[in-house]
Amino acid sequence: MTTPDFDVIVIGSGAAGLSAGLSAIEHGASVLIVESQGEVGGSSRLSGGVVMASRSTLQQAAGIDDAEGNLFREYMSLNAWDLSAGPVRRWADSLGETIDWLQGHGVPFYEQLIFGGDESRPRGHCVEGGGQALVKALAAAYTARGGEIAFGRRVDSLAVEGGDLVGVVSGGETLTAAAVVLASGGFGANPDRLAEFYPSAWVPGESFYIGADGAQGDHLDFAEQLGVQLTGFDRGLRMLNPGIDKVHEAFLPGWTILVDRHGRRFADETAPYGILDALMRNRGNVGYVIFDEACLNPPAALADRYRDAYKQVWPNHAAFRPKHYTAEVMELFAEHERVHIADTVEALAASIGIPDVDLRGEIDRYNDLVALGEDADYAKPAKFLNPLATGPFYAVEVRPTAIAHTGFGLKIDEAGRVLARTGQVIPGLYAAGECTGGISGRVYVGSGSSLASATGFGRICGQTVTERLSQTPVSV
Ligand SMILES: Cc1cc2nc3c(=O)[nH]c(=O)nc-3n(C[C@H](O)[C@H](O)[C@H](O)COP(=O)(O)OP(=O)(O)OC[C@H]3O[C@@H](n4cnc5c(N)ncnc54)[C@H](O)[C@@H]3O)c2cc1C
Repeated sequence: MTTPDFDVIVIGSGAAGLSAGLSAIEHGASVLIVESQGEVGGSSRLSGGVVMASRSTLQQAAGIDDAEGNLFREYMSLNAWDLSAGPVRRWADSLGETIDWLQGHGVPFYEQLIFGGDESRPRGHCVEGGGQALVKALAAAYTARGGEIAFGRRVDSLAVEGGDLVGVVSGGETLTAAAVVLASGGFGANPDRLAEFYPSAWVPGESFYIGADGAQGDHLDFAEQLGVQLTGFDRGLRMLNPGIDKVHEAFLPGWTILVDRHGRRFADETAPYGILDALMRNRGNVGYVIFDEACLNPPAALADRYRDAYKQVWPNHAAFRPKHYTAEVMELFAEHERVHIADTVEALAASIGIPDVDLRGEIDRYNDLVALGEDADYAKPAKFLNPLATGPFYAVEVRPTAIAHTGFGLKIDEAGRVLARTGQVIPGLYAAGECTGGISGRVYVGSGSSLASATGFGRICGQTVTERLSQTPVSV
């Protein structure tokens, strides 16, 4: 047996790959990260840098009481337990330590935590400087400890000899290692993969990925090579988009109402994007965002009520402002087939093709609730309730076609070891982050769960890998 080039090769330099590499180095391994792009970070670099966790030192210092197991149970309940419960348990329970670990390696977090989704208490840990700062700090800590990164080298396949994994193949060269960690992210940038494995998100010509180009789904080819179990079909995170451009807008302004094809409301419009995504599935993935002229040009006396239109507040982040639902955009796209503008609700209903009595009735009911000061139907907070009564009226057809995350990938055990279709662990193969399946469910739990998966399982993989190295002689 020859000496491998490295103890560990990690495929991908996003939050998962950097966390795995750093953790493995801390445990004494020599590590090479192989990155297909010319820079570090993948989609992690473009992210908002919110990381979900409970029981971190920061959460405790903020006086937020979060009992052990809370996060796990809420995460599982929101997904009706349709997840890999064992791995989720180990991961969720260790996330507080993961945040402390990241902080210890120089990742700058704000002291203030946020609600990333529908959780019972704030668990969103926000990196000061977003994903860019997260990646920068991790890369600095990794390289300072001797970790190497090979840029512009796409791994084409896993190197397998006599059925055993021995490393990776990139550009015709075989790089050997005792263990390989797959951290190559999702497949949002690959239309063919989206059509095949995330069909509910794929509308040709309209769907677009808001992440990095490297998310090509190469993990699915690697999985094929070694007969890996795949899980998480048609999961991920889809955000509502009008289809008039490829500008991503995470939240709806609170002064809108969102109705289905029958003109019926079905949600608190300020709900987290993961919840709106899940609700759209049951409504044919088509909705109409409705608002009136007062929303676009509010009377001066009411300007504050309309300006403060978002529930989501991030530390040191400028207040959210509408990107599509503005007077300028409506004027620019007034003739677009997705944009309907009419002087009366009846004419708006006719333009969309919804029976006018349904839309008229729904708006009348909404206005009655607004007058009472309480959304008794969908519990939208009272501060967002404004009447829809001033023409012209607007309806923008939206579909969940802005893709932020894909959830179909390799099945792992609680230690990040990859499982074969036979049910057995594949010796030497580990995975973390968006290339895994079974961790992200049908309901995207909220801002922070993906980076938590990437950093949390990355760190776990780094630990597990080195346990293997201590049992396996790496050179003879
Ligand atoms: C705009 C945006 C905002 C987001 N905000 C948040 C947020 O605030 N909180 C949150 O939890 N989640 C957020 N997400 C989701 C989250 O960022 C991702 O799920 C997470 O970063 C994935 O991390 P990763 O390390 O698994 O993958 P990535 O960060 O995508 O890294 C994978 C890396 O692997 C490389 N690679 C791929 N194939 C190969 C190959 N064959 N050979 C070599 N290298 C390869 C890629 O180039 C890439 O650099 C956001 C996503 C987007 C797009």
